[in-house]
Amino acid sequence: MSRLVVVSNRVTLPAKGGAAPAGGLAVALQAALEERGGIWMGWSGKSSGTKDPEVLSLQEHGKITYALTDLTKTDVEEYYEGFANRVLWPICHYRLDLAEYGRKEMAGYFRVNRFFAHRLAPLLEEDDVIWVHDYHLIPLATELRQMGVKNKIGFFLHIPWPPADVLFAMPVHEEIMRGLSHYDLVGFQTDHDLSNFGGGLVREGIGEALGDGLFTSYGRTFKGGFYPIGIETKAFSEFATKAARNIMVRKARQSIEGRDLIIGVDRLDYSKGITQRIDAFEHFVKNNPGYHNKVTYLQITPKSRSEVPEYEAMQRTVAEQAGRANGAIGTVDWVPIRYINRSIGRPVLAGLYRLAKIGLVTPLRDGMNLVAKEYVAAQDPDDPGVLVLSRFAGAARELKGALLVNPYDIEGTANAIARGLSMSLEERQERWRRMMDHLLEHDVMRWCDDFLADLAPGR
Ligand code: UDP
Repeated sequence: MSRLVVVSNRVTLPAKGGAAPAGGLAVALQAALEERGGIWMGWSGKSSGTKDPEVLSLQEHGKITYALTDLTKTDVEEYYEGFANRVLWPICHYRLDLAEYGRKEMAGYFRVNRFFAHRLAPLLEEDDVIWVHDYHLIPLATELRQMGVKNKIGFFLHIPWPPADVLFAMPVHEEIMRGLSHYDLVGFQTDHDLSNFGGGLVREGIGEALGDGLFTSYGRTFKGGFYPIGIETKAFSEFATKAARNIMVRKARQSIEGRDLIIGVDRLDYSKGITQRIDAFEHFVKNNPGYHNKVTYLQITPKSRSEVPEYEAMQRTVAEQAGRANGAIGTVDWVPIRYINRSIGRPVLAGLYRLAKIGLVTPLRDGMNLVAKEYVAAQDPDDPGVLVLSRFAGAARELKGALLVNPYDIEGTANAIARGLSMSLEERQERWRRMMDHLLEHDVMRWCDDFLADLAPGR
């Protein structure tokens, strides 16, 4: 079996004894790397300041070599904070209005991809299969090909791919499309993302769809497919069962005092629809006096990317909104919304999901949304909660047992909350079973195997 080489912006090193287990993606990639032997290369997360980064730091763990590089301060600002997070992230989440183009940032993005290629190439062996992850590294294959690398190279995009009218408003769309053509397999989360990609390619006259998932553009033929990422379903379900004993989960249970719990868990990000969600909850409470003092909405929202101005501004907006809503609908003995700005470890989260009667997952646009899948996996089969899910999350293509909502429709989301809270046990169980069966069959290991089987069949 060929060695596997994974490249991603950030690398997850194996958890040290006692540390919280890594997320499902890292677990699956580490398992695939351990099975085949290989390398995981990426940015260390550290800046070398104004000095050029030192040589790669190589760390061996079992059959895996972790290869980490620092980046200069300018590289971090231009490649990561600049082009990746202020152009590609908003564009891929359909937010043309938030994209901030700058030539400097674009040049930095391509420069860092070239730098990654130059650092990676000397480590490669002829038979290695290379798997590149996410929007930070789209041009990596182009750079490797220019250096003469002929290996199979696959790319998986964890975030959405927008329709042509959004993508082609981006000044460097041509280079980005060319970048994708240098892979052997380009994987998206859903059929919608894949059809946006193929549709854009054909409509703009860049290439052709040959059928059977094959595309041709810029003189290359490559495969495109969709591979909805899963979670480590069984393990997550076990965390949730065990978490009942966790002190934080027990305190949460005591403090809701028998009220119904609604839970939202999202990184602070404009794509997650948090402000619309708070509005929907407020609307639900105002329209359903029977639920006054009988429901608690817990929103867990760790800060992210605070170096990007939109994120910093959002931190204030959401905190103020939660405060204002509590002022408007709360009473002397009831704080309806609890807003937490810290990150909570996944084993504890699993217990909190299990306590909640409703998992409220309403992004305006999301590649997949793992929280939706985790919420389902964490439920008690005898008394499962209801998933209220945005139709604009990738997960909505699979989780048909959820109550699907349009997050821009505040009243519709409020109505779904009411419907979820009053749903019969029989209907809840039937919906949950359908989703759980799907998640057990399509877990993150299967996702990893499916992608690698299509990238290099029989290797
Ligand atoms: N998460 C966490 N602690 C928190 C909030 C979130 O560990 O306080 C995890 C969550 O369990 C999930 C991931 O972060 O595994 C979020 O993934 P998702 O696909 O929902 O959104 P993303 O942040 O990747 O856009």
